[in-house]
Amino acid sequence: MANVWPLLDRAEDRRAWPDRAACRGLGTEGFLRPPCESSRERSAREEAARKVCAACPVRVECRRHALSSREPYGVWGGLTEEERRALYVHASA
Ligand code: SF4
Repeated sequence: MANVWPLLDRAEDRRAWPDRAACRGLGTEGFLRPPCESSRERSAREEAARKVCAACPVRVECRRHALSSREPYGVWGGLTEEERRALYVHASA
């Protein structure tokens, strides 16, 4: 695993992590499931969101937040809600 602490210690990285999010200004549509969405639409939307997350400089912070607060909906840190739920189950087993 890469050592990220030198990167996180840069002054520009001390801002609140949401301010540095790659999804900032994109709106939530691509990250949250709309009421009526087919499985094909959902896969496409989640894949597009994952691509944004993959290039996000605060993916670790975002994922940590989502897991620790048990965010029930949406793609956070590149993880879908189903993936997070699977991690909770695995962690509690
Ligand atoms: S990891 Fe994804 S959801 Fe989280 S802040 Fe970055 S782009 Fe947004």
